[in-house]
Amino acid sequence: MDGVARMNPAPARQRQAGATGYLTIDLAAISRNYEVIAAAVAPVKAAAVVKADAYGLGADRVAPALYRSGCRDFFVAQFGEAESLRPQLEADARIYVLNGLQPGAEIACAEAGIIPVLNSMEQYKRWKSTALAQGRILPAVLQFDTGMSRLGIPPEDRAAFATELAQSSAVEIRFIMSHLASADETDNGQNAQQLAEIRKIAAEFPQFGVSFANSGGVFLGADYHGILTRAGIAVYGGALTAGQSNPMQPVVRLDVAVVQTRTVPPGTLIGYGGTHAAKSEMRLATLAAGYADGLPRCLGDRGAVYYAGVRLPIVGRVSMDSVTIDITALPPGTLTLGSLVEVLGPHQTLEDLAKSAGTISYEILTGLGHRYHRDYL
Ligand SMILES: *Cc1c(COP(=O)(O)O)cnc(C)c1O
Repeated sequence: MDGVARMNPAPARQRQAGATGYLTIDLAAISRNYEVIAAAVAPVKAAAVVKADAYGLGADRVAPALYRSGCRDFFVAQFGEAESLRPQLEADARIYVLNGLQPGAEIACAEAGIIPVLNSMEQYKRWKSTALAQGRILPAVLQFDTGMSRLGIPPEDRAAFATELAQSSAVEIRFIMSHLASADETDNGQNAQQLAEIRKIAAEFPQFGVSFANSGGVFLGADYHGILTRAGIAVYGGALTAGQSNPMQPVVRLDVAVVQTRTVPPGTLIGYGGTHAAKSEMRLATLAAGYADGLPRCLGDRGAVYYAGVRLPIVGRVSMDSVTIDITALPPGTLTLGSLVEVLGPHQTLEDLAKSAGTISYEILTGLGHRYHRDYL
């Protein structure tokens, strides 16, 4: 809960006619979080990961704010994301595509000046052919698998790469990279195993610098920093390390509007499937957001929202466009059509909501959807 108190709790805003929810995204907090990370790793450079529309918060707003804070290296996952982002950033910003390129995207990537992360010999060969066909040297990053078995050049292909890179300079390797699987768990032994492996790789490719740490890795210590760190979730206010206090400032606040209130007698069934029967007389409010707006369906009968600090449990199942809450704890008439309740904010952090949904902050953020009115601070 650290840092929560620092976020302005008052949803003081211009109401938008018809808006059923307000997603407030604090760009200044994003910038401060980036600056905290940049200071923690200096003189090593800090990149920002802005994949999946900057974790759902809007890459077109977030990336330029990060640029103004001094960030020059931006990672997305897919080429389409890089293409959309390119015109939003100055020419000296570098954009890397973590998943590399699907066959056929090479020429567009080369023309746009976007840097692919090459994860296999096949991706490398296609990029090299494009460079040769265009008669120019094309930049790339090489990713190696150090134990996550997701993306990257496998150990058995490293020798072939070393031979290839000694013979051809059609592709200019900017740096090499790998990704940590368990960096959010400081005492997970996989971190040290992956560190040992990336050191071996660095010794096999001594001409290149290494990019290794994600958000969690930044705080595993300087051994993990290499020449360029790649924080994502920490920039967006997510916790770095499972179970520890969060030094990052909260970035999002979500308030959702009441559509209808009612009082029901004992025994009344609530929501799809009639899974919840009122045990006594209850007052209920239906909110204008559901699982299509990123409130996970599994929050049914588990999660809660808040009003003026009072916990209001979700009752029955979460619908696509609405959810019903128990407002019996509030004085009658407190909530009416259009009242706003807090889904994310000072009383419920991203981690709190993720925990009650049995998921992680990343999934909550990227699922928030586009039906809320967005305010950028
Ligand atoms: C998503 C991602 C990151 C950022 O991870 P966080 O945990 O959000 O900091 C860094 N590197 C790679 C390869 C990624 O896929």
